Amino acid sequence: MNTVQNIETIQLSKVVSDFLNEEKKLFIGGEFVSSSSNNTFQTLNPANNEVLAEIHEASEEDVNSAVQAAKDAFENGQWSTMTPLERGDLIYKLAILIDEHKQYIAEIDSLDNGKPLAELLENDLPNAIGQFKYFSGWASKLMGQHIPVNGDFLNYTRHEPIGVVGQIIPWNFPFMMAAWKIAPALAAGCTIILKSAEQTPLSALYLAKLVQEAGFPKGVINIVSGHGETTGAALVKHPLVNKIAFTGSTEVGKIIMKEAANTMKRVTLELGGKSPNIILKDADLDKAAEGVFAGIMYNQGEVCSAGSRAYVHSSIYEEFVDRLVNLAKKVKLGTGLQSGITMGPLVSEEQKERVINYIEIGKSEGAKLVYGGGASEQGCFVEPTIFGDVEDDMRISREEIFGPVLVVSKFENELEVVERANDSEYGLGAGVWTENITKAHKIANKLKSGSIWINCYNATDPASPFGGFKNSGFGREMGSYALENYTEVKSIWVNLN
Ligand code: NAP
Ligand code: MG
Repeated sequence: MNTVQNIETIQLSKVVSDFLNEEKKLFIGGEFVSSSSNNTFQTLNPANNEVLAEIHEASEEDVNSAVQAAKDAFENGQWSTMTPLERGDLIYKLAILIDEHKQYIAEIDSLDNGKPLAELLENDLPNAIGQFKYFSGWASKLMGQHIPVNGDFLNYTRHEPIGVVGQIIPWNFPFMMAAWKIAPALAAGCTIILKSAEQTPLSALYLAKLVQEAGFPKGVINIVSGHGETTGAALVKHPLVNKIAFTGSTEVGKIIMKEAANTMKRVTLELGGKSPNIILKDADLDKAAEGVFAGIMYNQGEVCSAGSRAYVHSSIYEEFVDRLVNLAKKVKLGTGLQSGITMGPLVSEEQKERVINYIEIGKSEGAKLVYGGGASEQGCFVEPTIFGDVEDDMRISREEIFGPVLVVSKFENELEVVERANDSEYGLGAGVWTENITKAHKIANKLKSGSIWINCYNATDPASPFGGFKNSGFGREMGSYALENYTEVKSIWVNLN
């Protein structure tokens, strides 16, 4: 394995080492409180599997307290009476505080998740700050309509906050996922209970400190750590929670949707993917190879919209695969805090085993392993891995691996490849690489995915919607669309006679 040896590890900031030594309580009603059960769980550093911290685990009773705090803040507290501009100001203040603390948050997520510090500073943190800045402006722009109805009536709509929202997030972008969820819900005027992922609970607790410092009214944002089957499930079944916003696996998304039916909760789901990249024969090969490679290997492949399937025109197939292999050779695997690394460990031993298992499946299915396939003994590292000559019915071409594994297939015909790309239970992202922009638009229109990237991959912006078709879920994060996740529409009629 091409792991980086003897490279300097960045010295942790004192703020972060102090934070790691603090007790990791729950954030409920504006205060840090101990778990009522006194249960704790450990979060590990996946680079070496050492314990980073003991985390208070939210019991059902703690979830009930957090929901009650959010309910009180919504019904009686200052939040509901605050003017939209004041609410926007507070959200913006949080953005500024996150900006001031971004180095510390990046170090925390790098330790807890494993990902390279530089990526956190270049992507996750600016993106998260952007969410709060962008949505702070929306707090004062939530407008209904005045509707010209038949008869002598004045009819208008109000877009009202949905109320108390439960938000459940995964471990792959711990801080950024929290920002994607919290910022639009705040702009809409909702109050929140956020459950972080058990593998990466630290940066959400750091955010709680900033929420306190910003001066949000008590109970507007509550943060609970714990396990999905207990803490998460308690949130999903709670009758006072009006809405669940979930990001995670399709499997758990289905469980949540079923459970939420009992209390008629509103639900939005951002789920898994097996996103295709189509490389036409006239593509700019330098750009396409780099884009396709980064589209799967970025964040160790632990990206819901990772471009995990590549369909390459047969006339450029050999050359394209060679280019991918050359890029793979340049990857520098190391711990997130080592300078100059480009890929960190996967998030956990469990995830490493899952990915190794899929690599074995790929070999046994007869796909050609053209690069990588190795994993570390110590820590959770897996090499960037490329399979060639992959057939569409192989499991590695159909199932989400959620790791640095690219499957490459050949195609001859452009119409047929779009069908093959669409022949998936998922529909989160898709990429098209060609210098023929007319053709690119035609293909984009036919692809069944929530995001289509032409000559780029995984571009996101707080202003542009992101979400899935099919088993990749429903509802859109970001942009004005995200506000629909957190508002109810009320139609008001006034008799003018
Ligand atoms: P996961 O196992 O579904 O977990 C996601 C979250 O749900 C975690 O906080 C988890 O808690 C919680 N959870 C688990 N079971 C639950 C239950 N019965 N009730 C309530 N909550 C429950 O997913 P993951 O392995 O962490 O994340 C990887 C998946 O997320 C991939 O499929 C990926 O594609 C998807 N993802 C999608 C997007 C998107 O925007 N579409 C973005 C990122 C990731 P614990 O982990 O604490 O047990
Ligand atoms: Mg961890």
